[in-house]
Amino acid sequence: MSPPIAELVASFDGARLWSDLEALATFRDEGASPHTRRAFGDSYETARAWLREQMDEAGLTTRRDAAGSLIGHQPGAHDLPPLVVGSHIDTVDGGGRFDGALGVLAAVELVRSLARADYVLAHPIEVVDFTAEEPNRYGSSCIGSRAWSGTLDARLLALTDADGETLAEAMRRAGGEIEQLGTARRSAESIAAYIELHIEQGPVLEREQLDVGVVSGIVGIRRVHARLTGRAAHAGTTPVGTRRDALAVASEVVLAVEQEARAAAGELIGTVGRLAVEPNAPNVVPGLVELSLEVRSLDEQRLDASLERIEATAQKAGADRQVAVAFSLLSELPAVAADPRLVAALEEGAAVAGAGTMRQPSWGGHDASQIARVAPVGMLFAPSRDGLSHHPDEWTSPEQCAIAGRTLLAGLALLDEQLAG
Ligand SMILES: [Zn+2]
Repeated sequence: MSPPIAELVASFDGARLWSDLEALATFRDEGASPHTRRAFGDSYETARAWLREQMDEAGLTTRRDAAGSLIGHQPGAHDLPPLVVGSHIDTVDGGGRFDGALGVLAAVELVRSLARADYVLAHPIEVVDFTAEEPNRYGSSCIGSRAWSGTLDARLLALTDADGETLAEAMRRAGGEIEQLGTARRSAESIAAYIELHIEQGPVLEREQLDVGVVSGIVGIRRVHARLTGRAAHAGTTPVGTRRDALAVASEVVLAVEQEARAAAGELIGTVGRLAVEPNAPNVVPGLVELSLEVRSLDEQRLDASLERIEATAQKAGADRQVAVAFSLLSELPAVAADPRLVAALEEGAAVAGAGTMRQPSWGGHDASQIARVAPVGMLFAPSRDGLSHHPDEWTSPEQCAIAGRTLLAGLALLDEQLAG
């Protein structure tokens, strides 16, 4: 007979989690920004060897799947598919100590807590460190979780870095078995649910002085490339009425994107992040602009409608100036809703752990976006100081890490009860 969940939660050792975060942070790339640990590098592999030891010591049976993801398994009381908890331990170049690492190490501490409290889950538990979540130099991301969802296709595997190495070759170097990738794929029947604790990467929880955010869903992202073709001309002798100024049109696009975000009041965000101007000379009317814009929202219809309005503004601005406007969709990532049962369990878990909470969307992509293709997913956010992430100053305090970990543990135990029926 397992003890009450409140007792289980008290067995979560926040100091142990913190010392693990500090230990993991010592594995870093030489000569890079202080907390960088890029996927497929040497320090990434030694960090994963260290992590495997921690998993082994916590009583998990560990293995690497064909995509290199590190998986620790512990049986449950019943013959059920596992509850999966995890994240990633690679960083971007110039990244910090908490993005990804918190979710993986809290999952390991969660397993230790179960043992300390003699608490037996009905479901088996799997702790997973997904391979290479962050955008990599081969032009992709979420490698381990894509292998689970079946979206790590031949096109992605053949993408190369600046030196001509393919992603497939990099994965092989890191112990991946490319010919066996199909074996890493997971069926819907092989996962009861996936839960990921992650830092917020934004300022909302800190501003609201809350302990955790329960994620309502992960936003969809549309990226568009726009080519605005006017005519380069002398900046002194060409009257404004006869100019075909591509940058003037681009300026209206930039402001239209900003206006969409302002009008959406928190339901959509949009950015023009790249602008290439030709000839880009101080005394020449710009003849050509290529720009990339993106919009993000949980609401797919809102995404489509705002893109239509932005394109209409661009077409009108182009027609006024005889600038040809061509929009093309670069990528389309669907919005993912968190499973209502997981949202409820995590909110109830927050109450048990004494954590102040709110519901919020995830504005960034995560491994959970991939896993949602095959299993119900839920996510929990811990506060990020100043909203910083992908930055060496990324910070979540020991107390904040601990209470987020306790919420994860309580939420998982509640979900285990509910799903086991
Ligand atoms: Zn991350």
